[in-house]
Amino acid sequence: MTNPAPKVPQPDKRSVLLIGDVQVDFCPGGALAVPSGDQIIPIINDAMHLFHAHRFPIIAVRDWHPPNHSSFKEQGGPWPAHCVQMSKGAQFHPDLVLPPGTVVVSKATNPKREAYSAFEGTTLEDRLREVSADRLYVTGLATDYCVRQTVLDARKLGFQVVVLEDAIRGIDASPGDSAKAIDEMRTAGAIIAKASTLGL
Ligand code: ZN
Repeated sequence: MTNPAPKVPQPDKRSVLLIGDVQVDFCPGGALAVPSGDQIIPIINDAMHLFHAHRFPIIAVRDWHPPNHSSFKEQGGPWPAHCVQMSKGAQFHPDLVLPPGTVVVSKATNPKREAYSAFEGTTLEDRLREVSADRLYVTGLATDYCVRQTVLDARKLGFQVVVLEDAIRGIDASPGDSAKAIDEMRTAGAIIAKASTLGL
């Protein structure tokens, strides 16, 4: 017998749409491009439209590094410089249509600390508690880094999580990293679903 796939809960007033790192530098042509990273943008735009129409909160997280961030190769880190505060590469992708009222949360702003999770050293948890959120719908980049770590932290903090698998993309520095990350998120209790299950 196979277990039926868990039923996908529909967004309600305690739901928040989370958009991670859909920035110029993480999309094709950017300093740290996620392959096909821009292809998720239309799906995220549809999801934002749905949430906004219902007045459900939307939070856009951005990687927002000082120029001397420890994750940069020049500082001994693993990545090329990317998403430097106020630079063009740090801007949200121009095709991403953030509705008015979207809350922006910046992460990895401390030069000495890397932060893949949108919860690490940010105001995200406070923002979620302020609106009595109990469920997050997660989209964005990159599956095997920030999406993965954000989802695992959200589960530890007790939030229900629905990962919209067609609205995320991974780097796959080692082949299979993204598939492994999705398995880890599912094992941690996240529901992995297609955006179409929200009627998008
Ligand atoms: Zn970064």
